[in-house]
Amino acid sequence: MPIKVLAPEVVSKIAAGEVIERPASVVKELIENSLDAGAAQITIEAQGGGVENIKVSDNGAGIPSLELELAFHRYATSKIGNLEDLEKISSLGFRGEALSSIAAVAEIEISSQTSSDPIGSYVNLRKGEIVRRESRARPQGTTVTVRRLFRYFPARLKFLKSPNTENSHIAHLVSQYALAFPEVRFTLVLDRRPNLQTTGNGHLRDVVSEIYGPEVAQRMLEVERQNGPTKVGGLITPPALTRSNRSYLSFFINRRWVHSPLLTRATEDAYRGLLMDGHHPIAVISISLPAQELDVNIHPTKAQIKFCHEQIVYASVQKAIGEALNRTPIASSRPMPFSVNSGQWQSPRMITDNEPTFVVSQLAALELPVLRILGQLANTYIIAEGPDGLYLIDQHAAHERILYDRILAQRAQRDVEVQGLLQPITIDFTPREEETMKVSGGALAEFGFGIEPFGNRSYLIRAIPVIVARANVIEVVSALLDTLASREGPNPWEERIAESLACHGAIRAGQQLNNEEMRELVRQLEQTKQPRACPHGRPTMIHLSAHQLEKEFGRIG
Ligand code: ADP
Ligand code: MG
Repeated sequence: MPIKVLAPEVVSKIAAGEVIERPASVVKELIENSLDAGAAQITIEAQGGGVENIKVSDNGAGIPSLELELAFHRYATSKIGNLEDLEKISSLGFRGEALSSIAAVAEIEISSQTSSDPIGSYVNLRKGEIVRRESRARPQGTTVTVRRLFRYFPARLKFLKSPNTENSHIAHLVSQYALAFPEVRFTLVLDRRPNLQTTGNGHLRDVVSEIYGPEVAQRMLEVERQNGPTKVGGLITPPALTRSNRSYLSFFINRRWVHSPLLTRATEDAYRGLLMDGHHPIAVISISLPAQELDVNIHPTKAQIKFCHEQIVYASVQKAIGEALNRTPIASSRPMPFSVNSGQWQSPRMITDNEPTFVVSQLAALELPVLRILGQLANTYIIAEGPDGLYLIDQHAAHERILYDRILAQRAQRDVEVQGLLQPITIDFTPREEETMKVSGGALAEFGFGIEPFGNRSYLIRAIPVIVARANVIEVVSALLDTLASREGPNPWEERIAESLACHGAIRAGQQLNNEEMRELVRQLEQTKQPRACPHGRPTMIHLSAHQLEKEFGRIG
């Protein structure tokens, strides 16, 4: 279809609006255009977090010379023509807004060549106006270069994060499109460093291997299910292979990358009972269904969609994943996380010892009195007696508090206890993780990690802080990189790193402790600054005062 400006009645029906929020939005729009043009190869280069410059080249169909300038008109598109087309959109773009919105906030150059034009053409726009146009020969395809994004929009520039955070958004975005289009060869170069390269051989597992590393790729389970016209396919990790947040869940509907709480829920429901709290799978799920079954036209960035039959989609995804998990032997020996309802309660072990029972003192609200250990409940809570009643201490939360204080103190004194690894551990970073590693790796060193490059996106972990010596080091490092990638969070990032390390290093619920260990834990807890709350702010203990007990037992009115 030739490019033409949409009729006003069509325009009034599309969810128009601002689509360029940050450099990654530019990359998204340009990649979508390349994919819609049927490109088999797409190369993305960005500098300075994409603010300085973004260049996307493809070998797609190209834009006819006569239409090149029209492409920059608002609502000019070759993808839909009328209202009916809007009902059954199969392309990624359709609103004819991206190029004009980009041209409004940046300098833009485009060169393109189709198979039928004798010579390609080039235009250069500044402040939305064409400043240069000429014929230019080039191989078939299109290259768009966007420079000085938001230069005349200081308020927007201020809203952007650091270049490395913007780079990591770009890396994440390109990874997602590479997962959605395994038959397209993607190349991403950030600040002149190669970041991601897929082969375009059409195999999803190979793309996963590039992004999440060969070990993850090899262990992932195949998802495949068809329910009427609804098809669900993809790869998921077995329950033993998890990450600490949800950013490893990717969903594509008719190959469009979408954020969907419904699909997240369907996935998590399929893993219900298989994962410990705070653990999340890696999943790449593609759903295809008739275009009439969904509405992509509800949000300008098209990242949200509405299903006509939500329940069917939810059930298809949940079942598809459930089947994949059930097909594997791992799923049959479901590792039950500790649960108070699972019948794992044990009667408290009573311990009699001859420690002094009470030390009466004037206590500040936050301080802890000296406690006498009575036993352990459900291998999770320590039961203790204090001068004013009973204390139930959550062993994991208490240990987190102890480790958190210790980590921050050691770092402040530059005296982190480090353990060298005899056998270095190889870790394969995702493009986004590697970007964070390159820029913020120094922060990990401050906390005791020795990590060095080992070619491509592989790294060798040679040393770790002693505190996490018994944890899954790969999980710890990816969780820390996630934290570092969003340094702008609510708490200072050092504290969030310490929180994450403390959480990974702390003893777990369900772990049996002997009397000596419990006494030591409580002794160390007494010495922390805030013994009554874990670093996440949850209580480390519940106190039942003597007064409350007497009331409960009806001894007093
Ligand atoms: P939309 O993608 O919604 O149609 P855009 O503003 O992104 O709107 O692009 C306008 C038009 O320019 C597209 O409809 C398409 O015809 C053409 N175009 C843009 N980028 C490319 C490209 N990389 N290859 C071929 N055609 C392109
Ligand atoms: Mg577009």
